[in-house]
Amino acid sequence: MKKRQILIATLALGLAGAFAPVRAQDKGTIGISMPTKSSSRWISDGESMTRELRAKGYRTDLQYAEDDIPNQLAQIENMITKGVKVLVVAAIDGTTLSKALQSAADRGIKVIAYDRLIKGTKNVDYYATFDNFQVGVLQASSIVERLGLTQGKGPFNIELFGGSPDDNNAFFFYDGAMSVLKPYIDGGRLVVRSKQTGMDKVGTLRWDGAAAQARMDNLLSAFYGKEKIHAVLSPYDGISIGILSSLKGVGYCTAQQPCPVVSGQDAEIPSIKSIVRGEQHSTVFKDTRELAKVTSNMIDAMLSGRTPEVNDTKSYHNGVKVVPSYLLKPVLVDARNWKASLVATGYYKEGQVK
Ligand code: BGC
Repeated sequence: MKKRQILIATLALGLAGAFAPVRAQDKGTIGISMPTKSSSRWISDGESMTRELRAKGYRTDLQYAEDDIPNQLAQIENMITKGVKVLVVAAIDGTTLSKALQSAADRGIKVIAYDRLIKGTKNVDYYATFDNFQVGVLQASSIVERLGLTQGKGPFNIELFGGSPDDNNAFFFYDGAMSVLKPYIDGGRLVVRSKQTGMDKVGTLRWDGAAAQARMDNLLSAFYGKEKIHAVLSPYDGISIGILSSLKGVGYCTAQQPCPVVSGQDAEIPSIKSIVRGEQHSTVFKDTRELAKVTSNMIDAMLSGRTPEVNDTKSYHNGVKVVPSYLLKPVLVDARNWKASLVATGYYKEGQVK
């Protein structure tokens, strides 16, 4: 019996060896520092980056910092000590990494800001991201279209939510959205009853859905006793879900009182399910597989002495320099196109979102 087991095990090992993918070369290790696993987009980012880099012959050191700044710093310092070739960083707070990145530069380690800009340092070589201003434009345009503002309907009540004030992207999203909404607000077709506008008033630290839910509770009780709210600008799906929970708590999202028009971002599964149920109105899909491709091409170019491809050399000044960037296109997703954008492209299986 024992002999047979050994024989089977030996055979299995032999087969596994024969079919194991051959790693063409070992081109060294790339350090990937992600902010948190609490949002599924960053998990997809990490998986796609690992896949892309391995296919190109690199090893990867992927770390998640659970939205804790000292934790992210320690993880990055550790990667530097271990001698990674390139650091890919999606920063929790874009301004806290200068010292670590100086020591990376001193050792010849290149740095790519991943999705979020790293600020206040010359030691960031490239930036791979999406057109963040356009994300905000898409969020606001979907609200404007759904309310029928372009056909002269209104006035409608709206409240505004922003992302985390330590994330440069949050300002781009907000500014993009306001480029669409402000003319309607100024013209009185959209009314912000709380008068809370500007990132200093509407920001949501660490993109926290629970904090957004608490703020929405306060807004509803302070400003919407008798008046109805018709729309909420939300910068991110986790925040949208918090906002919707608050709205449901006071009787919205029923046959008599439908949900206000709520935007979002990242095409996260709970939000796609909510869109399919007719609750959240829209989200913005940013294909993390594409971002990982762009980033790993940048890495491979830098390490083989080629110049990485960029398509924007003016939008992202980090306080010290303009960081050469590659901007991918975000896509608006709502009940009309979620299948075509997310299922037909293989990002999700239909069963995952139903
Ligand atoms: C990303 C968004 C994401 C947000 C919260 C931003 O930096 O660009 O895709 O929704 O962080 O994680």
